[in-house]
Amino acid sequence: MAAAAKFRRVLLKISGEGLMGSRNYGLDPETVERIASEVQSVRDLGVEVCCVVGGGNIFRGLSGAAKGMDRAAADNIGMLATVMNALSLQNALENRGVFTRVQSAIPMPSVCESFIRRRAIRHLEKGRVVIFAAGTGNPFFTTDTAAALRAVEMGCDALLKASQVDGVYSADPKKVKDAVRYDYLTFHEVLARDLAVMDASAISLCRENNVPIVVFDMHNDGAFAQVVTGQGRFTIIK
Ligand code: UDP
Repeated sequence: MAAAAKFRRVLLKISGEGLMGSRNYGLDPETVERIASEVQSVRDLGVEVCCVVGGGNIFRGLSGAAKGMDRAAADNIGMLATVMNALSLQNALENRGVFTRVQSAIPMPSVCESFIRRRAIRHLEKGRVVIFAAGTGNPFFTTDTAAALRAVEMGCDALLKASQVDGVYSADPKKVKDAVRYDYLTFHEVLARDLAVMDASAISLCRENNVPIVVFDMHNDGAFAQVVTGQGRFTIIK
């Protein structure tokens, strides 16, 4: 018998990098397709799933500002990049027969719905996957903070952060050979040690509102469903 889900409603944060596959820029259709199948398998467990997608595979405000752009203008471009990613994930999910809605924090009614919290909750209750686009809708923020904000607003039981590695380490394990991996951390430890999980505002929001963060490696097939059923390798922060 399949393991039972530990959560009723989760938010999955996927960075732009997570949609890029082995490319240097943009979207890798095979990777998007694989993530859609992971999301579908969790939805099929009866878990309500919402997603926040990043945009770093296309544009980051900070990089634009470093090249002389106005930061707020650059961030607006970054937020628009997340809308492209959201629409592409939506397309992959709908191709698999999963009903979805994209809700953008920047209204663009001819492309997708605008973010309306109660409407998003209703979609989830009906079994639709809701993909939140355009971050928080404000420059100077990140999609990590957007993920924490939406997880809190939607009453999620956990924020699941899809990572490039299988949890939180004391240093980047791709650069530091003896970096220590943690199974469990408190929010305080993450902030006090400045561990590279999500930005401090995202961590604080989750801490203040008791939403645990689970960091796991999205590269492994079935990883998302495993985490939701309490199996596999991950770091839990609470
Ligand atoms: N962004 C923003 N406000 C937000 C979320 C994102 O201005 O609430 C912009 C910011 O420029 C950021 C870009 O959108 O660099 C892409 O988001 P992010 O870097 O968080 O994406 P990820 O690293 O997850 O791919």
